Amino acid sequence: MRVVVIGGVAAGMSAASQVKRRLPGAEVVVLERGPDISYSACGMPYNIGDQRRAAFDLVIVTPEAARTERGVDVRTRHEVVAIEVARKIVRVRDLEKGAESDLSWDQLVIATGASASRPPLPGLDLPGVFVLRELTDGAAIKAWLAATPVREAVIVGAGYIGLEMAEALRGLGLAVTVLEKLPTVLPGWAQPIVEEARKELVRAGVRVETGISVQGISREGADLLVRTDRGDMGAQLVLISVGVRPNVALAKAAGVALGETSAIATDDELRTNLPGVFAAGDCVEVKSLVTGRPVWIPLGTTANKTGKIAGANAAGGHERFGGIVGSAGFKLFDQEVARTGIDLSEAKKLGLDAVAALSRHHTRGKNYPGDRPIVTVLFAERGSGRLLGAQSIGADAVAKRIDVFATALHARMTVAQVEDLDLTYAPPFAPVYDPILIAATVARKAVEKAAT
Ligand code: FAD
Repeated sequence: MRVVVIGGVAAGMSAASQVKRRLPGAEVVVLERGPDISYSACGMPYNIGDQRRAAFDLVIVTPEAARTERGVDVRTRHEVVAIEVARKIVRVRDLEKGAESDLSWDQLVIATGASASRPPLPGLDLPGVFVLRELTDGAAIKAWLAATPVREAVIVGAGYIGLEMAEALRGLGLAVTVLEKLPTVLPGWAQPIVEEARKELVRAGVRVETGISVQGISREGADLLVRTDRGDMGAQLVLISVGVRPNVALAKAAGVALGETSAIATDDELRTNLPGVFAAGDCVEVKSLVTGRPVWIPLGTTANKTGKIAGANAAGGHERFGGIVGSAGFKLFDQEVARTGIDLSEAKKLGLDAVAALSRHHTRGKNYPGDRPIVTVLFAERGSGRLLGAQSIGADAVAKRIDVFATALHARMTVAQVEDLDLTYAPPFAPVYDPILIAATVARKAVEKAAT
């Protein structure tokens, strides 16, 4: 029995390890086109922000350790160029030698992940212009920072990775400018959260330009010149951080069905439409437990979980992946920003009538040292009062407070039920009424008002 896994990061290595755990005698081959496997991409902004750290301290398992300790046949710099389902083979290109060969499989796991979007702009290939997706990207940025006198950085794109990198580069003492084509930073987040995030960026000394269009990048002496519709900006480092897209071309060419989000569609057992072919991680769409619809929200925990389940099922199991509620969070200088569930515009698209409720509270007991403001927006269904989503920005475990709302979404609770939760209180951790309870009260009142 041979299981072939395409892609060797979070989903691929979770799948491979799971097969070996369940079927120690199975042959498991991981084909990875890059030089690295099993690393924490999520840790890259923090790693780049700390020049004492080596880029490669983010590696969890080296190819050598995977071979010797886990018995997984890892082949890096090997790209799968075609999948033939009828003959149960993959066509593999050895990127070092340039040679191609076929490898047969009994079960196949596609874990090809996602790639950074590269807009069709001139100058993206210039030295000093980067994307941040793979470990080699992080290592290249670190090497550039170490070897080049970088004073100014321009980040194109104000999503969470762009903003994490703004913090990392600002921490290294650089002058940082963030450019965003859309009217706000953090596109897709609620307005009160966006406003607080922008204030925090400005407070930390980051220049923020929204509604700006980047037209290209050129070299001007030792500097890069970012050309925009509001004039040129000089920099020695440019990061393009305008989103990611799922790597599905290989699967699609083999006849694997894509879903409505354009990522690979699977059933709850991570099986694709083709026999013996599983898919997991950032290349697949999963079910939203809030809406019941497929969603593509490419994040690390989902990649690990779906990889593990795909591996278990490729080894003969019948494990199921329940779905997600869409929880995500990140740190922004002295603030934490987090969200779960859906917002008003997503609710509207699905024909759900929803209300939004904004609350401003604080995070610790009155006059307790370190008490900080927290802003929360809840979304609830009009009529039923069911919680649909939550977003928050502030200090003191904001992301973990959002996890309470995520749990409430799993349980399909109403905001009134959230308001009744028995949560901990002690002045170092929370006010008598935790901001979670206050947010739920405000939302319950908004639902009641909407009903009158
Ligand atoms: P990938 O990591 O994309 O791995 C897929 C692998 O497949 C790649 O190595 C690719 O080379 C390989 N591959 C593709 N095609 C082929 C082929 N034809 N042949 C051979 N190999 C192939 N998530 C969070 O939940 N929290 C965070 O804080 C967070 N922060 C992040 C910060 C950054 C800077 C980045 C880049 C990502 C972050 N993420 C975060 C997202 C998280 O890292 C991803 O969800 C996760 O890495 C996805 O794992 P994956 O295995 O599905 O895909």
